[in-house]
Amino acid sequence: MGCSKDMYISLLDRLVYVTHAEPYDREAYVSVIEEICKTYNLAKGDTEFYLTPMMEQKGIGENFCDFDNGKGTKVILRIRIVSQSKAVIITTIYGEEGEPERSEAELAELDTMVRIITGFATRRRLIRMMQEFGFTDLDGYLNFRAFSRYIDVENSENRLGGKIAFHIDLHNFTMVNQEVGRANGDIVLKKYYTMIKDAIGDKGIIIRLGGDKFIGIFDRSVKRKVYDIFSGTAVPYGDSDDGKIVISAAAGIYMLPNPFLLKSPGDIMDKIMIAGDTAKRQASESIVVYDDRMKSEKAHVKKVQSEFRNALENEEFAVFYQPKVDIESRTIVGSEALCRWIKDGIIIPPIEFIPILEMNTDICKLDFYMLEHVCQTIRQRLDEGKSVVRVSVNFSRKHLVDIDLLDKIISVIDKYEVPHEYIEIELTETTTDVLFRDLRRVVCGLQEQGIWTAVDDFGVGYSSLNLIREIPWNVLKVDKGFVPKPDEDENSVANIMFRHVIALAHDMGMKCVIEGVESIDQLDILKKSNCYIAQGYFFDRPLPLEEYEERLDRKVYPEITE
Ligand code: C2E
Ligand code: MG
Ligand code: MG
Repeated sequence: MGCSKDMYISLLDRLVYVTHAEPYDREAYVSVIEEICKTYNLAKGDTEFYLTPMMEQKGIGENFCDFDNGKGTKVILRIRIVSQSKAVIITTIYGEEGEPERSEAELAELDTMVRIITGFATRRRLIRMMQEFGFTDLDGYLNFRAFSRYIDVENSENRLGGKIAFHIDLHNFTMVNQEVGRANGDIVLKKYYTMIKDAIGDKGIIIRLGGDKFIGIFDRSVKRKVYDIFSGTAVPYGDSDDGKIVISAAAGIYMLPNPFLLKSPGDIMDKIMIAGDTAKRQASESIVVYDDRMKSEKAHVKKVQSEFRNALENEEFAVFYQPKVDIESRTIVGSEALCRWIKDGIIIPPIEFIPILEMNTDICKLDFYMLEHVCQTIRQRLDEGKSVVRVSVNFSRKHLVDIDLLDKIISVIDKYEVPHEYIEIELTETTTDVLFRDLRRVVCGLQEQGIWTAVDDFGVGYSSLNLIREIPWNVLKVDKGFVPKPDEDENSVANIMFRHVIALAHDMGMKCVIEGVESIDQLDILKKSNCYIAQGYFFDRPLPLEEYEERLDRKVYPEITE
């Protein structure tokens, strides 16, 4: 047993070399270990790794074995190292039962070699752990560093061309958490991620940016599979198959040209984020592919957001009024306040700024600004003894979560001592149950104060009859898209639906206003359906204050017969 001094020095030499060589050569390492074991007649050598001493006590760790002939039962040497980070590494070497005692000199040689091996195992394991921690987040998802590294490697190998990069943001994940509970929500999130990861396979990557947002890149060959998961897939959250929830995502896509060479790290990120933003804003189309026009759109968004505060202070927003007309008497029975941004003498329509202001709570400031100006005008007309009609002001859904909303509205109206019945608040339908409850709370509160409420754009999207059955609105504003076409058959579905919705609203004590009435034919349809109030270009476009006041003073619209 044992070996000559020269042999020991040579083995030691090689051991030091293989445990320090970069890159690590596993084959060379194992061959040295085997030779040491044979030379010293060892039966087995293994290394245990524990993250902390506590985990060592509990036996929670990993075990690596580099040599084992199956006969190792007698412990010859056991070396335990605790690293600075408090990880515990134990290397044990074994001989066979009944073997003769080893000499002091031999044990000293083995001790030196085992210490080198243990130190090496410690270093390697800690580096691997650092990499694992570096590239995953605390929940075990790959993180942004993993994405950057992947892109870097693929780029250097020229393998990015033609691939598809994406940013996804899950739809309504807050609601999912509410529905299945937070713990199950976490399970659903991980499963959805794993589904995408499996679909992507080894020619791409998906990582979590945080929350319910992920980014990644995949090969065109798996596009269909991955898109299907983005569009909506049932994800189980319990052990049984019963508990499933459909998860879908708003996806921003960037199709990398082929060939593609990454110049700056932002090349891919910027594009998928921009497309992702657009996807998130669109209600219907959930997968949006980046094109260069979106970049200017993003610049427009930034511009509006940065100019808004000043514009509001400078009173650049003007209230335009569109009359609501009783079609029998042709008198103005109310009007809607619609916002216009007058910038450098140009009138900017709401479509260009309202959706942007709705991305944050800026819209709420604008709505109160409108209410304030409307109240001012009504007060002035009342003071001058002029006729006044009820004015409706649009309030964004963004207000609904504000529990002080009601008090704030009342305080503005009362500041100008405007009788409550002259103000109507227009709100649109909501998409979630939570918002539905908020909507009912707000509408009921306004009613108690004698302030009118209108449900705007009824018939756009998926209007639910619950909306009018469960919430006591004063007014149903029917969108022009819901009005039957003039050449439509009396008994067409559109005609029947229209007549019934109007009848239902009337039976429930609501007034009906039809928006977007442009022609005399449409007016006839309204008359036939017993609907009496119209708002639209047929009578007037939204008018600046002065012109609107002229209409109010004139009172009646002249008869037009063509
Ligand atoms: P809305 O509340 O449904 O307002 C009716 C829209 O229909 C107005 O567009 C009006 O000009 C348009 N319209 C009226 N009659 C006709 C017609 O005969 N034919 C056609 N094609 N259109 C007609 P506008 O003023 O461009 O406003 C668009 C939307 O912007 C409004 O839709 C409302 O949702 C929003 N909005 C406008 N002002 C405000 C505001 O102060 N606050 C909030 N939150 N939203 C506002
Ligand atoms: Mg409206
Ligand atoms: Mg409307």
